[in-house]
Amino acid sequence: MKVFLDSIGCRLNQSEIETMARQLLAAGHELVSSAAEADKVILNTCAVTSEAARDARNRTRRMHRQNEGAEIILTGCYATVAPQELARVPGTGRVVPNKDKAHLVQIIDPQARLDLPLFDQEPILREFLAGQMGHTRAFIKVQDGCDNHCTFCVTTVARGAAQSRPLGDVVAEVQALAAAGYQEAVLTGVHLGSYGHDREDPAGLFHLVRAILSHSDIPRLRLSSLEPWDITPGFFELWDDPRLLPHLHLPLQSGSDHILRLMARRTRRDSFRELAAAARAHIPHLNLSTDLIVGFPGETEADFAASLDLVAEIGFARLHVFSYSPRPGTAAANMPGHLPKAVKKARAGQMIALGESLSLAFHQQYEGATRPVLWESVVGANEGGLRWAGYTDNYIRVLANGPDDLFNQVTSTTLHDARPDGLSGIIDGAGRAAPPPNHASRITLPIGPTS
Ligand code: SF4
Repeated sequence: MKVFLDSIGCRLNQSEIETMARQLLAAGHELVSSAAEADKVILNTCAVTSEAARDARNRTRRMHRQNEGAEIILTGCYATVAPQELARVPGTGRVVPNKDKAHLVQIIDPQARLDLPLFDQEPILREFLAGQMGHTRAFIKVQDGCDNHCTFCVTTVARGAAQSRPLGDVVAEVQALAAAGYQEAVLTGVHLGSYGHDREDPAGLFHLVRAILSHSDIPRLRLSSLEPWDITPGFFELWDDPRLLPHLHLPLQSGSDHILRLMARRTRRDSFRELAAAARAHIPHLNLSTDLIVGFPGETEADFAASLDLVAEIGFARLHVFSYSPRPGTAAANMPGHLPKAVKKARAGQMIALGESLSLAFHQQYEGATRPVLWESVVGANEGGLRWAGYTDNYIRVLANGPDDLFNQVTSTTLHDARPDGLSGIIDGAGRAAPPPNHASRITLPIGPTS
């Protein structure tokens, strides 16, 4: 069977698609890089914004036009919160909610086994898995669901209560990825910071990261989005290990305490400001990034000004700005004070402009500096050879000329020409950067199913 895999939205969706890809390969199926060649198409959808939902409907129509013979299977958060809506889209074959997603490969191939070790058929290949867009970073799902009820959030509606994978399973997966040649693993989840809470371990994420750093020799470990209130005392000590990358994504969402209360966020201006200062004090070269929602119901000019002010004061390296969009099943959708589209658009424009000036300022600090860059993809060619794109340890996107075999390599790179979206680089004569000291005191954990 030829299968095309695609994903919209968060890294968790990406990691689930990567797991399905490995299960399909292990079951002897072929992965193709377009719907036009496929017998089956699996699209992992997102419901966080109305734009993400519209994207899923458009992709489904387009893939159906490309190949009317392929069965299109829609799964993910949008398929969970609005299955009928998706079922009415021309070309939709099956709609599989999140609760059945882990068994989706078996749904389309009942002979497929989901408990096979999934890494034997690697080492890492350049185009090793369709639908992965050339990532060299492996996204690892460590937990699902969330027990919070932020009033704007549909994810907690679509994904249910928080559940953590066994620590041993996650460590085994990271060991296997390192053995397969991955340079970087990214821990991801719906509410990553709540890892282990459902297993009576309030410091679960701290214990997980420490176990991975102690029992694997993955060269680079990155954490995806963390809710600010989940940072436990002593958490920043983990960064004493240089393999834990100096990048923290802490969603602030608003800089107004009035709006944070309406959002049911468990953080406030002062506590967030203190947390940012503590992180910077402990983690050199920290890239602190965040999410901001503008135009939340009831957001006054003064609330918005408070957001601009706190964002500028903290000086984030990167902002993800979202215009508030009411999502089905969320409390905020029924709140009074929804703002006109034009007001939301104008505020988003202001916040994005601020974000770009802050990103430029952050990148300018690194002009002339040398950082280790993991090279991921070729973005072009010029008289100097191939033009590569990659990320520094502190998550700055870098473009540089380099040889053909740079894929999945980490090199010392001297940075120059700062832009809001990154820097350019020159790969140091020495070429490959030495990986950090080998911490492998490998424990032979049984490689269990990754689902
Ligand atoms: S903590 Fe995150 S996932 Fe959970 S409800 Fe809030 S925004 Fe949604």
